Amino acid sequence: MADAGFYGRLVDYHMHTPLCHHAEGAPAEYARRAAALGLKEIGFSEHCPLPDGYDRLRLREDQLGDYVRLVEEARRAAPGMVIRLGVEAEYVREDLPYVRRMVERHAWDYILGSVHYMGMWNFDAPEAEREWRECADLYEKWRQYFELWREAASSGLYDTMGHPDLVKKFGPIPREDCRPLFREALTAAAEGGVAVEINTAGLRKPVKEIYPSAAFLRIACEMGVPISFGSDAHAPDEVGSGFRQAVDLARACGYREYARFEKRRRTLWPLPA
Ligand SMILES: [Zn+2]
Ligand SMILES: [Zn+2]
Repeated sequence: MADAGFYGRLVDYHMHTPLCHHAEGAPAEYARRAAALGLKEIGFSEHCPLPDGYDRLRLREDQLGDYVRLVEEARRAAPGMVIRLGVEAEYVREDLPYVRRMVERHAWDYILGSVHYMGMWNFDAPEAEREWRECADLYEKWRQYFELWREAASSGLYDTMGHPDLVKKFGPIPREDCRPLFREALTAAAEGGVAVEINTAGLRKPVKEIYPSAAFLRIACEMGVPISFGSDAHAPDEVGSGFRQAVDLARACGYREYARFEKRRRTLWPLPA
């Protein structure tokens, strides 16, 4: 395991709470786990509400206040730990005004932008695995995903884009060169002043690879797009997992700094050695 000095110079900005119905452990337990690793700053980023018609894997509209209170409880339980209040908000083309309204309800430290849906299809759900494995037009699906991603990065709604190439989750990767798709998407991020998240959850999924790929991250670095870090913990023992590999990947792709957020103001910090 990496040493406490390593973690003390990093942050984990992607963790969930039981309020999303698919995570376990109170925020205070995540904070205790983070403290045990040596992290000094973390951030919660619960799934933001969506209108009726989508699945229920997120906060309900009337639970936003409960979520904020749970994070405040974690702050009381872990004095000395800086705990940021973030939210993971969907990019859903037709329902973006709703998402915007939800996001405006609180003064978040950061808004993580995620694309989990193509239309109403949650392509990230376990039930989608078979569809991906049998998919005959993989490149076209990736093209559609990065088109949504590009719109998200241009929307002005998000501070950092979560698990940037989530579309690879179940393993199949197009034979075509996808770098032009990455370049277009990242141009929007660079122009929109949006960071991209290095998310270690991919290591725990069938693809067994950090989000995003080195190919994606090299282009991001060339374009001057900042990075943030998140484990996407849905249980306390996932906090900070894979972070040594994440930092190694960032360095290999040319990065020397990463982003932290407070009240949506970004500052850059040196990567730990
Ligand atoms: Zn989740
Ligand atoms: Zn997500």
